[in-house]
Amino acid sequence: LAQLFRPLDMLGMVYRTVRQGLTDMAAMFELIDTPAEITDKPNAPALAVHGGAVVFDDVYFAYDAERQILNGVSFDIKPGQTLAVVGPSGAGKSTIARLLYRFYDITGGRITIDGQDLRDVTQSSLRSAIGIVPQDTVLFNDTIGYNIGYGREGANQTEIEEAARGASIHGFIESLPDQYAAKVGERGLKLSGGEKQRVAIARTLLKNPPLLILDEATSALDSRTESEIQATLERISERRTTIIIAHRLSTVVNADQIIVLEAGRVAEKGTHLQLLRKNGLYADMWARQQNEAEEEAIPAA
Ligand code: ADP
Ligand code: MG
Repeated sequence: LAQLFRPLDMLGMVYRTVRQGLTDMAAMFELIDTPAEITDKPNAPALAVHGGAVVFDDVYFAYDAERQILNGVSFDIKPGQTLAVVGPSGAGKSTIARLLYRFYDITGGRITIDGQDLRDVTQSSLRSAIGIVPQDTVLFNDTIGYNIGYGREGANQTEIEEAARGASIHGFIESLPDQYAAKVGERGLKLSGGEKQRVAIARTLLKNPPLLILDEATSALDSRTESEIQATLERISERRTTIIIAHRLSTVVNADQIIVLEAGRVAEKGTHLQLLRKNGLYADMWARQQNEAEEEAIPAA
């Protein structure tokens, strides 16, 4: 009987691996190596971040020649400000994050950070300047301390605890029998979605990057956990240039700028109030989500 189940186990493993490969930004950004065609120019300098101004200037991109994904996307984020990217699934939102990380090279236009084209600086300096809080956080089968410390090589216990405090997960860890030595992951303690997000936030705090990407960082959480995590995320995005990719519009209301992406084009751009007044796509999305929120709040009869 055990033999009969083994192939199914294998299939489950393959499925999980594939699914993670598709949905997990951490895997995409940190665990998988960059495609071979992305290389540093000879003698490329390190990126010098001054305030963290990010510019997408008429950016075109396609994963495959047959299908264009971004069609002339432009936006401009001032140092320390927050840009929210909203729009339907498949519009190209996560692609924007991957391009800023230079996981792929664009086919047209220009992306700059503080005036420096991403293609002109070293990948290692670019990537150490950007922190990402993904939708699903990968935990290693190791201690919770290791899982946080992964945010920055060589971090010591004091720094790890400080990051955990900043992410409001220190108290939880202290309550575990093995504390920072508690094993987590598939073969250890199972953390809730909110706890995993806090581990990801702690990692990012440890990295302390000038640029921050939150890719639907709270979309997998129930609404109460979401609003708790939201407060922590707002705190860590202060004084950092931040891109929030969001499904629930409640998380983007305070952004300095919002773009609505539709089929790889910027369909609308403005603040929350400007976009509501426009009565277009954003206003529709907002109205729809308000209705859904009301329905959720009414207990089923
Ligand atoms: P969003 O985050 O807005 O849901 P994505 O940026 O992830 O959308 O994807 C935009 C489009 O690009 C989708 O149609 C998606 O299927 C496609 N896509 C994403 N990643 C890849 C890839 N590695 N290879 C080919 N197509 C991809
Ligand atoms: Mg996405």
